[in-house]
Amino acid sequence: MSRSRIPAFALFVLATLSAWPAFAQKLINPVDKFKQLEEILPTPNDFRTASGAPGSRYWQQRADYVIDAELDEVNRRITGRETITYKNNSPDTLTYVWLQLDQNTFRKDSDANLTKTAPRLDAAPAGPGGGGGQGGGQGGGGARMTFDNLDALLTAMTFDGGHNITNVTDGKGKKLPFTVVKTMMRIELPQPLVPGGSFVFGVEWHYNIHNAKKLGARTGYEPFPKDGNDIYEIALWFPRLAAYTDVNGWHHKQFLGSGEFTLEFGDYLVRLTAPEDHIVGASGVLQNPLQVLSAAQRTRLEQAKTAKKPVLIVTPEEAKANEKEKSTAKKTWVFKADNVRDFAFASSRKFIWDAQGHDVGGKPVMAMSYYPNEGNPVWERYSTAAIIHTLNVYSRYSFDYPYPIAISVNGPIGGMEYPMICFNGPRPEEDGTYSSRTKYGLISVVIHEVGHNYFPMIVNSDERQWTWMDEGLNSFLQFLAEAEWEKDYPSTRGEPRNIVEYMTSDAQDPIMTNSENVQLLGPNAYTKPATGLNILRETILGRELFDYAFKEYSRRWKFKRPEPSDFFRTMEDASGVDLDWFWRGWFYSTDHADQAIESVKMYRIDTRNPDVEKPIQKKEKAAEPVSLSDQRNEALSKFADREPWLKDFYNSYDPLEVTGLDRKRYEELVAKLEPAEKTLLATAANFYVVNIRNVGGLVMPVIMKVDYTDKSSEEIRIPAEIWRRNAASVEKMLVTTKEIAAITLDPHLEIADTDLSNNSFPKQIAKSRFQLFKQERPKNPMQELEKKPAGGK
Ligand SMILES: [Zn+2]
Repeated sequence: MSRSRIPAFALFVLATLSAWPAFAQKLINPVDKFKQLEEILPTPNDFRTASGAPGSRYWQQRADYVIDAELDEVNRRITGRETITYKNNSPDTLTYVWLQLDQNTFRKDSDANLTKTAPRLDAAPAGPGGGGGQGGGQGGGGARMTFDNLDALLTAMTFDGGHNITNVTDGKGKKLPFTVVKTMMRIELPQPLVPGGSFVFGVEWHYNIHNAKKLGARTGYEPFPKDGNDIYEIALWFPRLAAYTDVNGWHHKQFLGSGEFTLEFGDYLVRLTAPEDHIVGASGVLQNPLQVLSAAQRTRLEQAKTAKKPVLIVTPEEAKANEKEKSTAKKTWVFKADNVRDFAFASSRKFIWDAQGHDVGGKPVMAMSYYPNEGNPVWERYSTAAIIHTLNVYSRYSFDYPYPIAISVNGPIGGMEYPMICFNGPRPEEDGTYSSRTKYGLISVVIHEVGHNYFPMIVNSDERQWTWMDEGLNSFLQFLAEAEWEKDYPSTRGEPRNIVEYMTSDAQDPIMTNSENVQLLGPNAYTKPATGLNILRETILGRELFDYAFKEYSRRWKFKRPEPSDFFRTMEDASGVDLDWFWRGWFYSTDHADQAIESVKMYRIDTRNPDVEKPIQKKEKAAEPVSLSDQRNEALSKFADREPWLKDFYNSYDPLEVTGLDRKRYEELVAKLEPAEKTLLATAANFYVVNIRNVGGLVMPVIMKVDYTDKSSEEIRIPAEIWRRNAASVEKMLVTTKEIAAITLDPHLEIADTDLSNNSFPKQIAKSRFQLFKQERPKNPMQELEKKPAGGK
């Protein structure tokens, strides 16, 4: 799904200063930063190898579904019946199976509702109408809440949500006992399910669909009061078989609302009954177009296969006419999806529908968008184009998109992905105008959510445990795809400078934190891992090595279930570079990068030749500052001047004057030297020792731009291993025949250095501007109400 950007943290400017003693403490054992990761990672085995690849005995379960469901528009309810064929590929005998009932987060007594903490009433942002002005007086201490938020709060307390399980039976229709535990359901098996065996069972259920505009979540309906229609974006809707894995056994992370999900792959046959005049799009290929589409729609779909631009299957005018129909008749749409880990759909009579065929690696894919008239003009221009762009770029960096369709739907959900279908929120204003934020917000969210087909819909990581494994990797590829959309695309995630505020904030958690426990999921699971991968690619490994390793990870784990260690290990295994220090610093710690130039010293070789060295020493001595006392004593009459007989040899002896003896000694010295030594002695170079301090604690490569006095410059790139013996402070020697004028650390802002003011030698003047403004007295109530002051008696 998609998260908005991190809030600005204005208060962390001084963080590095005040935090220094803590870092000094940590850096006492600098070896820590480069310690092998083996002590943290799980021991490799036959299921997951030390190279990060699936092992020789890798296994995963499988669940195939046949679902019959009806969307009851009048009652806004889903009623369904499913038959699940569960294949036990594990080496274990199972006596029960678990299913996910994610709708149960909407029960009034759900853990999600009970553990909700109070909304912050004291820190509401100042909106229009001027927060914090003196004038009102109706405030009540400044506490505030929007009408919408209060409405949502009260709706959550009264909404009758949750899965109602009405029947569970075995393959022959015999009732099976089951137990609902919060958002999960356990079904006891009539007999143990042995390795290699299959279990067929059926579940019947119904639930009330929630208003997603009020209650959020990743599914729901959006009402349109003007025309009396809804858009339904339906997901997490059927009891879904929980994952059983070599790492966790049965998945037992109950759904609290943040961590998404992980499921088993399987084939789906889904028959969806909806009002006759609805258009339905789903995670699968339509099997009965003759029954549900008009002849014109079928012809247009055929044209779309080879079209160079999106073809309208349902036009805006047709959608407008549909809105008025309100048919009470029903129609059943049949969809088939192979090898997917979930199934979602969208349904409405408001939908415009466009489609464009596209070739991915020699296979045809139909890119399609469903949106109401309210989504235009941005949707007709950008949605399907963004799908196609995503398929092109993501397939190049990972693997060819394997599914026959890719859909983007506009409705109440801001951004959420499911196999082959995703829900995206941005819409223009009612008058059709839109901001650049809406335009790029739509393109970005379509890239992001379609991109999720790769991670985690195909590379099936466990989102409820590790959100970064799909959001981080996907946000990284989104950044690459945005860069190929147009020049200067306003990307928000990927550039190192954009993560600086988060990395110095108190709200930072290690990336390796369970998704439900993270304070700020956006920067933690999206921006920071995406930025880390970008730094790995651009600065640490280089594009060629990184792209090869990333592709290898994608290839190894597509349609399989990777863990964090599989990613870390594969990236090292395929690139041939030890990155333990990077995973440790960027993923396991909250250290930040802040390198500072402490000092620069210059040395040159003493030639030992008195005719060279003594004049230099003389010059240096002459350049030394004269003390204040010496200056003032200059004019004083001196005793020895008045009585010259007091002067002797030492009054005229200058030790810096070259003598015959000096020259003789030098000749003797040179005579003893080998020819090679003579050459070395004649080396005409400057030796600079640059002292660099690691203020932030995070070890990173050191990138230096060196400017010389002759106006030339040079870039020196030093691997992070320079910190391996002392992660707090290092000295680097630069040998040059030129003279250095200035040194700048991290000149391209590529390591997320949090404080640039200590990156330059000599230090730079920090330039900024301030604005002048007129202080205005706020009006008092007498002035506002135009009351006259009472006259004196
Ligand atoms: Zn996402």
